Amino acid sequence: MDEVVGKIVDNKQIIFKGYIEGVPKESDMELRLGNKIKLEAPKGSAAFLVKNLYLSCDPYMRTRMRDFHASYIPPFLPASVVQGFGVFKVIDSDNPNLKPGDIVSGFTGWEEYSLLHDTEQLRKVEADNDIPLSYYIGLLGMPGFTAYAGFYEVCAPKRNERVFVSAASGAVGQLVGQLAKLHGCYVVGSAGSNQKVDLLKNKLGFDEAFNYKEEPDLDAALKKYFPEGIDIYFENVGGSMLDAVLLNMRIHGRIAVCGMVSQTGIGAPDQQGIRNLLSIVPKRVKMQGFLQSDYLHLFGRFVEEVGSLYKEGKITYLEDMNEGLESGPAAFAGLFTGKNVGKQVICVSRA
Ligand code: NAP
Repeated sequence: MDEVVGKIVDNKQIIFKGYIEGVPKESDMELRLGNKIKLEAPKGSAAFLVKNLYLSCDPYMRTRMRDFHASYIPPFLPASVVQGFGVFKVIDSDNPNLKPGDIVSGFTGWEEYSLLHDTEQLRKVEADNDIPLSYYIGLLGMPGFTAYAGFYEVCAPKRNERVFVSAASGAVGQLVGQLAKLHGCYVVGSAGSNQKVDLLKNKLGFDEAFNYKEEPDLDAALKKYFPEGIDIYFENVGGSMLDAVLLNMRIHGRIAVCGMVSQTGIGAPDQQGIRNLLSIVPKRVKMQGFLQSDYLHLFGRFVEEVGSLYKEGKITYLEDMNEGLESGPAAFAGLFTGKNVGKQVICVSRA
């Protein structure tokens, strides 16, 4: 058994090679072999040594791949281990709040074992046989919480309203749509493949869904699904989709700007211009960007409510699980080509 405290073991790692331009590629990261780690939390360090089980691939990580220090999150250091959300098991601890065997979610390294200090959004995971551990970086982790906070706090939904979600089958979008359905809304999602459209309609309970890659005229597509207009747009993609949505918003509609993945890595001169912004004036549309981290006071309530909904079978969650730390770079790059079907997770170890 590897996890004997004090033992020195091999520690495979995924390294961020250096700052990039454009859309991320698998080759922006590389596997490093030969690194050793002592499975120990040094006395007096308040640190804890963990075994990483599941790692999360998230679009925001692209933000950390550029040499820009004025963002809400600092850039990765070139030639250092990639950082991200994960679920991990404590092996040794000098932290009074954690003991060996605890399962925790929070920020960690893309490696087999990590020596961590109190990290952001660190949470103990209570053992629950009905909820897979990996869900604590998906449905019950940052992406799920983004859907919950964005939908209830930013969209201010009312029953019977008409809701449109882009990147609807992804980690965030799939929960937004399901929460909107439970709230009594009419919900349409867009996604980038017919397989995803089928899942939205037949597994996730959306009223309608369409493949935006097969729609030559997005304005016409939206008019077909929303003949009376859109009350709420949960924005995940930006670009031409946002421009078409702007033409279809109803009076007093709300646009919650969660992200704009289509604009990721596009340099300022190439960024796609939005032409229809003026339409928010006569329609009195409210458009608001938000960060899930502004709403963390709601996290406990979120886990309780969404965990219960899942256990009662009222919501479901699609996960795309890649096996092995080595699969991380390709899985991450796949977010930007739509390869992932559901929440993209890397399984490093199941226990
Ligand atoms: P995700 O949807 O699971 O994965 C990204 C998806 O984006 C892909 O599967 C792909 O789906 C779509 N996509 C990629 N390139 C695209 C393009 N050029 N045009 C249109 N769609 C494209 O990712 P997620 O974790 O749920 O994140 C969704 C959005 O929420 C992102 O914009 C992310 O940055 C944002 N976010 C914001 C917060 C916050 O606090 N504000 C927190 C978490 C996430 P298709 O096959 O459908 O194209």
